[in-house]
Amino acid sequence: MGNFQIALLPGDGVGPEVVRQAVKVLEAVGRRFGHTFRFREAPVGGAALEQTDNPLPPETLRLCQSSDAVLLGAVGGPKWDDLPSGRRPEKALLGLRKELRLFANLRPARVRPLLVDVSPLKRPYVESVDLVVVRELTGGIYFGTPRGWHQEGALRSAFNTLVYNNLEVERIARKAFELARLRRKKVTSVDKANILECSQLWRKVVTEVSRDYQDVTLNHIYIDNCVMQLMARPSQFDVILADNMFGDILSDAAAILTGSIGMLPSASLGGKVGLYEPVHGSAPDIAGQDLANPIATIESASLMLAHSFGLHREAAAVETAVDVILGSNYRTMDILQEGCTRVGTAEMGDLIARKMETS
Ligand code: NAD
Repeated sequence: MGNFQIALLPGDGVGPEVVRQAVKVLEAVGRRFGHTFRFREAPVGGAALEQTDNPLPPETLRLCQSSDAVLLGAVGGPKWDDLPSGRRPEKALLGLRKELRLFANLRPARVRPLLVDVSPLKRPYVESVDLVVVRELTGGIYFGTPRGWHQEGALRSAFNTLVYNNLEVERIARKAFELARLRRKKVTSVDKANILECSQLWRKVVTEVSRDYQDVTLNHIYIDNCVMQLMARPSQFDVILADNMFGDILSDAAAILTGSIGMLPSASLGGKVGLYEPVHGSAPDIAGQDLANPIATIESASLMLAHSFGLHREAAAVETAVDVILGSNYRTMDILQEGCTRVGTAEMGDLIARKMETS
């Protein structure tokens, strides 16, 4: 039976509320399957700024580095909006990605049959959507140098550099193919190879990597067409592989399909320690009111079980428990439908945790 240490970084706003529910569910997983999860908590984001003047204190980072995985709530809020960018809560996220070498971001978007009508897209378009965006997280135009501003007389310009090397493309492509093998064995690689040299390298390397995965189907798609297809025929996708910027755009577009941001989990992988967090932010408008949907965080914990601990049966059991509770018509405010019972954050966590132990 496993023994795992998890760093908890609840953060700001609804972060602590939703992380608490995921902990309940993990404890229930431990009781049912005989694993021990040890939780150690540390401040991050605004909560850390209040205590230490640093959004990512060295002790928080050390705790993460010495744990088996990290579960994060969310960071940020109006209280810290006017701080200079180097001291803003969100700076902690970039620091964690860099220090934990998290080059792969996985964002699954699955439309549950029960929640099809919560999606803003019509039923036939979103029925059976079950995809994952695999986004490169530490390279590309967000990090490339040189970058900056330039002024000559009245003419102001700004510039960034889009750069990837073959090793960066290869390692993220392998993640996508490995993941596809556990799913429907289809990778769609996104680029703009008709215009950008960087995309031409991307396409070439992804194609080379695909030769090691003959059982997985690969196709290439231009970013503009991909966005259109995501809205027009999203169920065609299984694993979408994209660079940092294209992946950023596509994962938010995919988020729309499920209807509520409160349902979307994420995993950031690469180094020894993976980081798991809901896609949503700190939601200051609903913080402290028991209104937040904890399912995105509970499903992030489920991704942790599968990706960091190799506990696939346990991860599937969490998914089932969520399905059963939704099937029993319990809903938080953001996914409320007619004829359903509205519950708060804590009750949704209790229901899912209890179902884990009794099914
Ligand atoms: P947000 O995701 O916090 O909220 C957007 C909308 O979705 C709000 O109406 C909110 O009430 C709702 N929402 C969010 N999570 C929900 C949940 N679990 N259940 C139900 N409804 C939910 O985005 P925002 O308002 O743009 O940002 C608020 C703060 O969060 C900002 O400071 C921003 O910088 C920060 N942020 C942090 C992260 C992160 O920590 N990874 C991500 C995005 C934004």
